Amino acid sequence: MPCYNEDDALDHFWATITPHLDALGVQWDIVFVNDGSSDATLLKLVQLHRADHRAKVVDLTRNFGKEAAMTAGLDHASGDMVVVMDVDLQDPPELLVKMVELWRQGYDVVVARRVSRLDDTQLKRVSAGNFYRVFNRISPSKIPADVGDFRLMDKRVVAALRALPERVRFMKGLFAWVGYPTAVVDYERPVRQRGMTKFNYWRLWNFALDGITSFSTLPLRIWSYLGLFVAFIAFIYGVIIIGRTLILGIDVPGYASLLAAILFLGGMQLVGLGIIGEYLGRIYSETKHRPIYLTGGLYGFAPDEGEQK
Ligand code: UDP
Ligand code: MG
Repeated sequence: MPCYNEDDALDHFWATITPHLDALGVQWDIVFVNDGSSDATLLKLVQLHRADHRAKVVDLTRNFGKEAAMTAGLDHASGDMVVVMDVDLQDPPELLVKMVELWRQGYDVVVARRVSRLDDTQLKRVSAGNFYRVFNRISPSKIPADVGDFRLMDKRVVAALRALPERVRFMKGLFAWVGYPTAVVDYERPVRQRGMTKFNYWRLWNFALDGITSFSTLPLRIWSYLGLFVAFIAFIYGVIIIGRTLILGIDVPGYASLLAAILFLGGMQLVGLGIIGEYLGRIYSETKHRPIYLTGGLYGFAPDEGEQK
């Protein structure tokens, strides 16, 4: 469970989730990842761990973002299956029974699909819908619409995810990329119970760019076709202009068309360069091979489970 500034939500989360987990009839523990919270989240988590050792804590050295926090959680999770959940109870624990049952039937992945987004504004719903549409149009690995990070995964799937080397971790895409037999359960997404959302529109926009550039090179290829198209039109226009000049002599006017062409092409070139820059920047950060996250402290892990500090 990734946690970023969730001190309001944690006690309520723990009290709500434990009866559900006990009812599953499995041996369980929860790996909380403190994603560099600036409030009392770490304190709360350590208290939970002291009171009940089934609460384990991975403390990251700063805020690395939800994707990195989930990666840290998966890296430190043991067990035959792992569930990724938010701590704001927007991922209803009631679904776990059904999910575990489907896993027992042999599905390696059980995803939860939102049939409603009560908590989301109209703008967020529309932009999310458009994002899924664009992403699935241009990416070879498709992500099902309205499926969030809330999912159950067999340990085989977790091992596959751990083996993926990339630093920019667009988890929705990676989850889809690894594949495996997948079952879907539908649910009504409730409103956040405590605290506030950590994602504003600017962060979501950058998240969407990460997703698209991680899974598709179509935005790069567009420029080859656009370039070819413009060159073709320019050639035709050149033939016409030269022919006309040869036949009718020099025609001086043309300021408007000249300026329009220069400005239009200049703008297009800048956009093209910008898109190449987006990919270049990402290649640059991948090539540095920095770790995805750093752990500052571990609570509840035996020395052979992850590095102990
Ligand atoms: N989260 C995180 N790091 C971040 C932002 C969010 O670990 O930088 C966690 C957060 O604590 C929560 C989950 O990711 O458990 C989902 O965040 P939130 O509920 O704010 O997202 P929303 O449901 O609004 O999309
Ligand atoms: Mg939430």
